[in-house]
Amino acid sequence: MSNLEDYEMYTGDLAGDAGFTRARVYAPFDPAFDGRGSPSLLLIALSYGNQQEEPWSIPEYAALIAPFARRNYYREAVKRLQELAKQLRARFGGIRSDFRIFCNSRIPERPLAIAAGLGSLGRNGLLITDEAGSLCIIAAMTLPYALKGDAPVDKALTNDFPRCAACDPKRPPCMAACPTGALRGDGTLDRLRCIQWYASGNEETVPPDVARVWGQRLYGCTLCQDACIHNQRPIQGVSSKLGVLPAYLDARELLSMSDEAIKACFKGTALGLSWLGPKTIRRNASLALRRTGFC
Ligand code: SF4
Ligand code: SF4
Repeated sequence: MSNLEDYEMYTGDLAGDAGFTRARVYAPFDPAFDGRGSPSLLLIALSYGNQQEEPWSIPEYAALIAPFARRNYYREAVKRLQELAKQLRARFGGIRSDFRIFCNSRIPERPLAIAAGLGSLGRNGLLITDEAGSLCIIAAMTLPYALKGDAPVDKALTNDFPRCAACDPKRPPCMAACPTGALRGDGTLDRLRCIQWYASGNEETVPPDVARVWGQRLYGCTLCQDACIHNQRPIQGVSSKLGVLPAYLDARELLSMSDEAIKACFKGTALGLSWLGPKTIRRNASLALRRTGFC
C-alpha cells in the first residue's frame, strides 16, 4: 500500500474514531478560498442530534436556548480536529501550519462540504446528511497531501435537492413551519425575515412582525429543522463538555446584568461569540419577555 493510500485510510479511520459523523475530502483547496490554498481539505460533519433533554415545564420568564447552542459544538469540532492533526503529523509528518482549521469561518464551508460529498443542499438551505439530517455542524482542515476527492464548488448549490424529493416542493414541511416566511424553497433564505439571523446579532432592530413571533427565545430558532423529514428519527449527537448552557435562563436576570457579567456568563459557550455581545443578549431577552408585559 502506498504512503498516500495509507494516509487516506488513516485519515478516514481517525475521523471516525474522533466521533465525526462524516468525513470527506475536497481537493485541491484553491488559494482563492483562504489566500493560501492546500493540496486537499478535509470536511467533517459533527452531529449534535436531537436527543438533548428538554425541560418538563418552562417558566414564564424563561429565555430559551436552542439545543444546538447548549454545548459549544464548534469548539468541540475544533478540538477534535486539532487532535486529528496531531496524530497525522506524528505519523506522516508535516508542520502545524499545514493543518489549518476552519469552523464558522470565512471560507464557504457549506458549499465545500456539499461539493466534497458530505451531503446535499436542502430546500431549507442547510446541508442534509444521511446520518444526522441537518442536525450537524461543518468544520474543515487543510491537509498537506493531494488526496482523492474533488467536485467543483460552484455546482454544489445548484443541485436538484435530491434529499427533498419526498416533500411537496410548493409547500414542504420546512417552509410551512417557518413563522416568518423566510425560506424561499429554492435553498435560499431571506435573512431579513429569519429569527435566527436577528438572534445572532446581525441587525440592531427586529421588524415588528418578526418580533411578534419571536416567542421565548434567547437564542436559536429551529422550527424549520424540527419539521424536516430527515430530522424526525432519533439522531445521536456527540457528547461534549464544552460550553455547557441550560435549556433556559431567567430573562429578567439577564436584563439586570452588566456587560461584564453577561460576558462572564457566556464565556466559552456558543453564545460567547464576539458578534453576539451583551447588547444582543439583552435585546433577545427583552423580546423573550415581550408577552409577559415585564418590559
Ligand atoms: S430559523 Fe426560524 S425563522 Fe429562520 S428560516 Fe428557520 S424557521 Fe424560519
Ligand atoms: S422538510 Fe423536506 S424540503 Fe424541507 S429541507 Fe427537509 S427534506 Fe427538504
